[in-house]
Amino acid sequence: METSEVRWHMLSTSEVATALDVGCAGLSSPEVDRQSARFGPNALPRSARRNVFLRFLAQFHNTLIYVLLAGALAAALLDHMIDAVVIVAVVIVNAVIGHIQEGKAEQALEAIQQMIAPKASVVRDGVRQTIPVREIVPGDLVMIEAGDRVPADLRLLHARRMLIDEALLTGESVAAEKQEAVLPEQTDLADRRNMAFSGTMVAAGHASGLAVATGSRTQIGRISSLIQSVEQLATPLLKQIDRFARRFTWFVLAGGLALFAFAVLARNYDWIDALIAVVALAVGIVPEGLPAVITITLAIGVRRMAGRNAVIRKLPAVETLGATSVICTDKTGTLTRNEMTARRVITERHTMIASGSGYVPDGQIRIVGSGDQAEAMADAMPLIRCGLLCNDAALRKVGAEWRVEGDPMEGALFALAMKAAIDPEQERAEWERLDEIPFDAAHRFMATLYRGSNGTRLLFVKGAPEALLAMTAPDNCSYWESSIATAGSEGERVLAFGAKEMPAGSERILFEDLSTGVCLLGLVGFIDPPRAEVKDAIAECRSAGIGVKMITGDHAATALAIARQLDLADDPRVLTGLELEKLPDTELEQAVVDVSVFARTSPEHKLRIVRALQAQGKIVAMTGDGVNDAPSLKQADVGVAMGIKGTEASKEAASMVLLDDNFASIVSAVREGRTVYDNIRKVISWEIPTNGGETLAVVLAILLGFALPMTATQILWVNLVLAATLGLVLAFEPTEPGAMLRRPRERGAPLLSPFLLWRVLLVSVLFAAVTLGIFFHVLAQGRSLEMARTMVVNMFIIAEIFYLFNVRYLHMTSLTWRGAIGTPAVLIAIGVLVIGQAFFTYAPFMNAIFHSRPLGFADWALLVACGMLLMLLLELEKHVMRRLGWFSELNNQEDMP
Ligand code: ATP
Repeated sequence: METSEVRWHMLSTSEVATALDVGCAGLSSPEVDRQSARFGPNALPRSARRNVFLRFLAQFHNTLIYVLLAGALAAALLDHMIDAVVIVAVVIVNAVIGHIQEGKAEQALEAIQQMIAPKASVVRDGVRQTIPVREIVPGDLVMIEAGDRVPADLRLLHARRMLIDEALLTGESVAAEKQEAVLPEQTDLADRRNMAFSGTMVAAGHASGLAVATGSRTQIGRISSLIQSVEQLATPLLKQIDRFARRFTWFVLAGGLALFAFAVLARNYDWIDALIAVVALAVGIVPEGLPAVITITLAIGVRRMAGRNAVIRKLPAVETLGATSVICTDKTGTLTRNEMTARRVITERHTMIASGSGYVPDGQIRIVGSGDQAEAMADAMPLIRCGLLCNDAALRKVGAEWRVEGDPMEGALFALAMKAAIDPEQERAEWERLDEIPFDAAHRFMATLYRGSNGTRLLFVKGAPEALLAMTAPDNCSYWESSIATAGSEGERVLAFGAKEMPAGSERILFEDLSTGVCLLGLVGFIDPPRAEVKDAIAECRSAGIGVKMITGDHAATALAIARQLDLADDPRVLTGLELEKLPDTELEQAVVDVSVFARTSPEHKLRIVRALQAQGKIVAMTGDGVNDAPSLKQADVGVAMGIKGTEASKEAASMVLLDDNFASIVSAVREGRTVYDNIRKVISWEIPTNGGETLAVVLAILLGFALPMTATQILWVNLVLAATLGLVLAFEPTEPGAMLRRPRERGAPLLSPFLLWRVLLVSVLFAAVTLGIFFHVLAQGRSLEMARTMVVNMFIIAEIFYLFNVRYLHMTSLTWRGAIGTPAVLIAIGVLVIGQAFFTYAPFMNAIFHSRPLGFADWALLVACGMLLMLLLELEKHVMRRLGWFSELNNQEDMP
């Protein structure tokens, strides 16, 4: 039977199972294999990628290329075959380089996206497990909860307070409430309350259901059988450069035309020679390869970030990360390890300490101070039992290690029960759970209703102490509050527990049941040690001028204690969600600057905090994991989701996903982001001035009326070999040592900064000077024009090599051992370049094509000496500029006032 034709909503769950030929308790491995062979993967067909050939052709779609090809045609018609062939060769080589780079960049991005492919929770072979959504087959028993994207069309078996946003399918903006009962046949899609449809988003609650349709047989698959192809490679910076390159092209063409007219009319150049020279110059000066190199730089950045557990979902984040000035982070699991151990047990009369560490259920619970151990233990038992039953987690022993399935805090309560000599399996078997209110960060508690073996009905609640104190209103409130403060001040996360006897026959929990009669059983303090690497990461942020704000749902005292342990700020100030609510926006904008810990916050507070920071001109990276964090993740300049504990909703809203949920990975990504930006600046500071030098030399020759220092074909040759070698290597530069000692760059700082503009001028002039110097020197020796031009071409190449070493470090001297040995990319490029120049200078056929001549040893010595001199001059300039402090972008934090 074709699964999509069945009206699943009108079948009872057992009929659904029969129709699918499976059981209701999840598939076995052979059944999975059978279904997967029959139905294939749970994925929609991809829209076809752009055809490779068309992509290659697109490389030619560029004004400059058209001009070049017209030039080649003119040259060919006028019998300048060599020029024509060289021009066409340049065009083709450029296109090939661009094409390969683009393809590689796209592949890299695609591979990285696979790292965060969505996962789903299913029961197979009787065990709950997480599998890639692609692997779900019809018949799978699937669990969904708040924040999940429904992975297939499901017929719900069991739904608790389940709300699903089905706008995608029905256009309805109010989330639909779901339940499991059978519905009449004639029920519209939008009213099928016992179905969850693939692609819709779970807003609240949890449910289980049988997958009835997967892949293109789902409702969404039938509407749109194609999903979007890979995101185009575009970032604001890339667009800015593209726009610049295009405008610049027109400017160059206009200038070229003027120069051509001048050469022919005023200087009596042969018009075809002048045309080809001007065309060659245009090729030289327009940085047509720049967008491709920058794409590569970005793609390398994305790959390096992925290597550090930060997966980029939206490409512009690569740029923004480098400019991040504030990181707002969760506490639990991001700054801390989220490995909880229940340490302190507080009842009305006693405080006890549990020994042991991690989840190993070995240890003792001992009374603090004097008192009767047995009596204290008896007091604590109801509390410990409540912790075990109001709990969805379990511990599993894998080898020598104990692992949690579920919430770590609940795992710790499980271990605590074992330390108190309770057998969890037996205890849970004796009690039957009738209903529950799942934990929600909005109300900060979880409640469960149980039937005991003797028929009693007990309600167990656990949650944030404030929530339980409000619920239970105990007489000795101040005792509990001071106990909470003591545990919190030691960095413990505190949870309170309560219970209530319910009338016989109760089957459901209502929120009203919690407003009276709940009795406070006590508190448990958990330790959750900070991650070892986070303290250094925070110190790195502080030296890099990046503020770190902790935004947590936890208690102020606990949050503050952890902030102190991590050296978050010199004297961290804390603001609670309640206090924050009272502040108007303008005051909040002031407060966010000084406050570094926000406690007991809700997702709405997060949104206000991001906005306030942005109003202060900050570039904000913010973490989030819950379904309600999506708005603040979208609002932040870089939204960061958690790969392990984050919901699908938060991952989709985020621009970066952390594979290890670790704060230190954000800082690594920021460092890589700064490297990417630095490398883009390096590419530009190498490429533009070198083009400028070449142009200046030739333009001077035309204007002043002396012989061209390079022929048109020689200019094209220089551009070709440089574009294929040195032009690419700066994209691979590693992080400069001081990268995290600088302040973040300003929002909207221009790429062509004052220092870069100054560099363009200075280097252009120096290059023109040294090449013309060589040109006239060789002519003055009475040697041929060909000889002088060969020297000029080689001078250019050598000068470019030395200048590359200078540019590799923009913020410090390159005259170091590290600076001298370069990177493999640099060395390979230079190797290729040297071979190319040897051919150019010595191969007879190259001599014929390019009118070049073999050089002697003394010539090379002179060229290298000039290159070195140039390098020393530019190093001196870097040093002087840093000393003078004219360009603040060159300075490190420590140099600043
Ligand atoms: P962060 O935002 O840093 O991750 P958090 O994990 O403490 O902080 P929430 O998950 O919103 O934030 O939890 C807020 C509070 O709710 C906790 O401090 C705790 O008191 C309570 N709480 C958390 N998980 C549960 C749970 N499973 N059952 C009952 N109460 C819980």
